[in-house]
Amino acid sequence: MPGSFDVKLEETVYLPDPSVREQSWIGDYDTEYQRFLRDPDGFWEGIADELDWFRKWDHVKKWNPPYAEWFTNAQLNITHNCLDRHVKDGRRNKVALIWRGEKEGEERVLTYRQLHRQVMRFASALKKMGIEKGDTVCLYMPLVPEHIVALLACARIGAVHNIVYGGFGAGALNSRIRDSGAKLVITSDVGYRRGKRVALKAIVDEAVVNAPTVEKIIVLRRSDPGPELFSEMEVDFYEVLESGDETCEATVMDAEDPLFILYTSGTTGQPKGIVHTCGGYMVGAYYTTKYVFDMKEKDVHWCTADPGWITGHSYIVYGPLSVGATVLITETVPDYPDPGIFWRIIEDFGVTIFYTAPTAIRMFMRVGEEWPDKYNLDSLRVIGSVGEPLNPEAFEWYYRVIGKNRCPILDTWWQTETGMHMITTMVGEPMKPGFAGRPIPGVVADVVDAKGNPVEPGTGGLLVIKEPWPSQMRAVNNDDARYRAYWETINGYYTAGDLAVKDEDGYIMILGRSDDIIIVSGHNIGTAEVESALVSHEAVAEAAVVGLPDPVKGQMVKAFVILVDGHTPTEKLKSDLIYHVRMGIGPIAMPSAIDFVESLPKTRSGKIMRRVLKAQELGMDPGDLSTLEE
Ligand code: ATP
Ligand code: MG
Repeated sequence: MPGSFDVKLEETVYLPDPSVREQSWIGDYDTEYQRFLRDPDGFWEGIADELDWFRKWDHVKKWNPPYAEWFTNAQLNITHNCLDRHVKDGRRNKVALIWRGEKEGEERVLTYRQLHRQVMRFASALKKMGIEKGDTVCLYMPLVPEHIVALLACARIGAVHNIVYGGFGAGALNSRIRDSGAKLVITSDVGYRRGKRVALKAIVDEAVVNAPTVEKIIVLRRSDPGPELFSEMEVDFYEVLESGDETCEATVMDAEDPLFILYTSGTTGQPKGIVHTCGGYMVGAYYTTKYVFDMKEKDVHWCTADPGWITGHSYIVYGPLSVGATVLITETVPDYPDPGIFWRIIEDFGVTIFYTAPTAIRMFMRVGEEWPDKYNLDSLRVIGSVGEPLNPEAFEWYYRVIGKNRCPILDTWWQTETGMHMITTMVGEPMKPGFAGRPIPGVVADVVDAKGNPVEPGTGGLLVIKEPWPSQMRAVNNDDARYRAYWETINGYYTAGDLAVKDEDGYIMILGRSDDIIIVSGHNIGTAEVESALVSHEAVAEAAVVGLPDPVKGQMVKAFVILVDGHTPTEKLKSDLIYHVRMGIGPIAMPSAIDFVESLPKTRSGKIMRRVLKAQELGMDPGDLSTLEE
């Protein structure tokens, strides 16, 4: 675990139009933050009161470190808030879900009433199949409306869902099924990606071998003719749906009953099965969707993640539906049939809030602004980013080319473990490229040294969360030691595992993972800083750096660089880049070696896996590779 270290900070400030703040739910950040600090429990109670409960809580929270309970003895069902509440409050004919397939014209639309009815029917059918409250159901599906129906149906009857991204292979799926003890798997024969079929069912067939808990498999058959099913174990999705009753009351859940298990991205090591509960998670997902995205009922929200990641759980499904917005989902990838497809979808559907990942933004930068320039993006109101640091270069491009110097950018820092956004620049506040922003009202975050003492502005350290929050994870499945380690490593704070630095205004910049830190001649260097400096060179599209052993300096910086289309890899360019980093950060961070590469090892959610590069260089074992993209 590194201590504190100096960071060179350069700041530019983008001031949003005052109307953004005036029209926002949050209003003035400082006022809200102070209100939260004066009465944290009262603050969260106020948010929880905006939602429907079958029974209210006895206490807002019970904090018995490192174990938390939120909204004790309260009763609820999250699907009641995502569906029934809107149906009964006059939003029944409002569009809840728009699905766009890969092919032009392939579209499906579900109103809140229709979604509600399908979820009830499927939930009732699951009960008839013998799925009970507390059973685990694994979903391994493409991004189609049936996926959303199935996961909400699980939540409706209190079954714990474990969604596994449809890009994972059989080994990764098998280990998640086994660890979560799934009784049922819901899948599809195929997904569609880049015009090709991806066989999902075949992977499930392999993954359920040696997974003794699995009793049944529900198969959504999309191809025509669909595959034959093995009747002992497999059932057709629509046969199941039709066997359900028309109504199915939402099961009464205790606030602390588990809602889902979700495995982390595995960027830094073996994925952890994070357990979230019904009450606190609902409040966190609802609060941040409404107040961070500033989501209004008339918004058309498009989060480009997959439900297989926490981003999809909170900001495709539970958050936007609990707010009552319209959610767009699509199987489309950003560069097929051409790199203009995302902008075309925004124009076609009038998307107002767009949420994506830095890896996608950097890809769009590489292919050029002529693609977004072909489309009308006037409908956009708020644009966001999540998953990795959004380097200043990418921020500026996103702000100018996509946001037209008008839309606030939300660079949201959070984790599978946190369940909700934790640090960002709330809409209407001054934005600083490279900085995620300040902790949102409700969150107490800080940058500290290895002993837990806050470090000065401009000094790098470890990012911690000092106080509990409603959507904090409640457990790491089957691994209490790993759960406790999050809270017991530094002074009883929640340790995020990320390095960060604050400025004088309390804005936080994420510097990389503490596991990836590079120490050159006793100086700590966060990977993000050097990568950001490299990407700020016009020839560089994407970069990753790792620390390699060096007999003199302890470690040296090695960089892997993808060039922007049209630039040629030369020795001259290498020395230009080294000089560029020297001028940007200083001699200490200068890469000792640079490799030009075509691609970088990434997780399936698009995060750079530096440990793989490092292991390759050193001829070492790279560890768990189950989440590595092919
Ligand atoms: P694992 O924990 O298995 O190594 P992971 O940490 O990548 O995987 P996630 O929970 O999906 O799994 O990702 C959370 C991490 O993503 C954060 O700890 C942080 O490193 C990074 N991250 C997320 N959002 C941002 C952001 N806006 N800026 C910088 N980093 C971010
Ligand atoms: Mg993590």
